[in-house]
Amino acid sequence: MSMVKIFSVGRNSAHIARSTVGVRHVSGGDYTYVNPPKSGVPTWGQLMDKGSNSIIIGEIGRGLAVTLGHIFKEPATINYPFEKGPLSPRFRGEHALRRYPSGEERCIACKLCEAVCPAQAITIEAEERADGARRTTRYDIDMTKCIYCGFCQEACPVDAIVEGPNFEFSTETHEELLYNKEKLLNNGDKWEVEIAANIEADYLYR
Ligand code: SF4
Ligand code: SF4
Repeated sequence: MSMVKIFSVGRNSAHIARSTVGVRHVSGGDYTYVNPPKSGVPTWGQLMDKGSNSIIIGEIGRGLAVTLGHIFKEPATINYPFEKGPLSPRFRGEHALRRYPSGEERCIACKLCEAVCPAQAITIEAEERADGARRTTRYDIDMTKCIYCGFCQEACPVDAIVEGPNFEFSTETHEELLYNKEKLLNNGDKWEVEIAANIEADYLYR
């Protein structure tokens, strides 16, 4: 560290002191630098200031370079809900009950889905029709209990209950998430094209 002699010539004369270059305030009168500090020899404090300034400016420069580099790249985000990302055929969204192309319900009221559901979200009542076919008279899913495990879909022998691709079915009330058979069949009618395509795409793994 550079040292400098400070010679007092004022009211409190006859003082000779030693001090560091950085000293600016010395009490007791007027002082004159006998050996002025050499401008070419920085102190540790000046070196630290310079180093930290260089680091900060360098970081800002690197940050700006990253920002500029991303301006010309394809954005990682999409403009949802106007744009939507790709969905896997195995995506497990809102439930739906499917029909055959003839319009007949697929569900044969075997109740396997009700039995396998770990959340006990499915309630089924069934009876035999006049033509001898067994069909449900009640098919409810409490969507607030459902954990979207997909077991009901896996258990169904006729691909009647499925979890479709729709993930936009949030509601404002609990009651709106208590689905009945009519709601589930409507979902099936609405999403049949997408559901059939997903089942077809995934058939090797089922
Ligand atoms: S996805 Fe799972 S929790 Fe939901 S209804 Fe089906 S079996 Fe039950
Ligand atoms: S949806 Fe499938 S598993 Fe459930 S009762 Fe109907 S046929 Fe059986």
